[in-house]
Amino acid sequence: MSDHADADTTDESPLDAALSQIERAADLIDLDGDLLEILTHPDQSHKVSIPFRRDDDSIEVLTGYRVQHDGVLGPYKGGLRFHPDVDAAECEALAIWMTLKCALLDLPFGGAKGGVVVDPKDLSDREHERVTRRFAEELRRFIGPNYDVPAPDMGTDAQTMAWFMDAYSMQAGEAQPGVVTGKPPAIGGSHGRMEAPGRSTAIAVREACNHYNLQLDNMTVAVQGFGAVGENAARVLHEWGATVVAVSDLNGAYYDPDGLDIPYIIEETELGFADCEDCYEEKLPNDELLTLDVDVLIPAAIGGVLNESNAADVKADLIVEGANGPTTPAADRIFEERGIPVIPDVLANAGGVTVSYFEWLQDISRREWTLEEVREELGEKMLEAFAETEERVEEEGVTWREGAYMVALDRLVEAHELRGLWP
Ligand code: GLU
Repeated sequence: MSDHADADTTDESPLDAALSQIERAADLIDLDGDLLEILTHPDQSHKVSIPFRRDDDSIEVLTGYRVQHDGVLGPYKGGLRFHPDVDAAECEALAIWMTLKCALLDLPFGGAKGGVVVDPKDLSDREHERVTRRFAEELRRFIGPNYDVPAPDMGTDAQTMAWFMDAYSMQAGEAQPGVVTGKPPAIGGSHGRMEAPGRSTAIAVREACNHYNLQLDNMTVAVQGFGAVGENAARVLHEWGATVVAVSDLNGAYYDPDGLDIPYIIEETELGFADCEDCYEEKLPNDELLTLDVDVLIPAAIGGVLNESNAADVKADLIVEGANGPTTPAADRIFEERGIPVIPDVLANAGGVTVSYFEWLQDISRREWTLEEVREELGEKMLEAFAETEERVEEEGVTWREGAYMVALDRLVEAHELRGLWP
């Protein structure tokens, strides 16, 4: 285990996890060692300083990153997060997962990820804007609509992307909507982009239920995290008849064994759950949500939450990853032994980058798709990727993560072999 690992547990760091997952899948497809060597090294890793002015006129310097992992399939693609835990190794792990996610969904993109080491709660709106604009300026030489296209991630949203796109466009001397995705529709964003990772997570739950002959409308579901991914996954599953019994935010988990009224919660909790005591039956400590006796567990908050310390206590029959990297490899092994399938992040939450691709196409063609068109195309893409993964699971007896990685690696290997090594 490398020095990225968390000293308290035998759980691996995100980077060690991503590398060991890729190595495992490489083994399964008998991948040539040279290609594995290429895929376990990022193409580029940028670190930038971001000086910015606080509202009180003082100046602070933040650190930002952009890691571009593999560009064989097309321009690098992946989110920018604003979070105190961002570092180069975590961005590298997340960039590897983006490469695999884009390949699995058969999108013409490579993988990247970046972010700023900052807690967005410590920034006023004006400060958030100044940090975003300066970060866009620092990254300007390393990105572009045909080279690397950032998007929202934890702690960033459509407004962040609007500022980012404006800063880039001002320097380019012309509007460049294609430089980021996840923008508001009024400036070249796509309808359905914000709901997309949550919607695709719900699709993954539905398809997994079909695979295991389970009735979605008999399912109880717990969703950790009520941000863009968790909220939309809960909303869509509720619409489709599942019983969402628990959701959570940073302050706790909100539980009702008879099912939460998700549309009411979404309407009432704009200012948080503290103002909505009739939204739930019981408030539980956050980590208890992960071990509730439910049919489906959706970790949709941060990475590493299902780990060696709690995997044996998880009572769900199916886990569907809404967040990136919520299950450590140690927990994965425990779930495999216990026969609990885990539908991996690279498949389940891939709706985000898939609709980012649709947005990028709309920006190039200057044509707006309707929400219905977006949802239909997303549904088709998800079904294809799910079916390809399912085929590996059924034919080769591998886990869903291994199956998804095998499909993705096959595409990456074919592209690397066809293009060859330059010079
Ligand atoms: N941040 C999202 C993800 O982890 C989306 C990336 C994108 O749309 O480029 O998949």
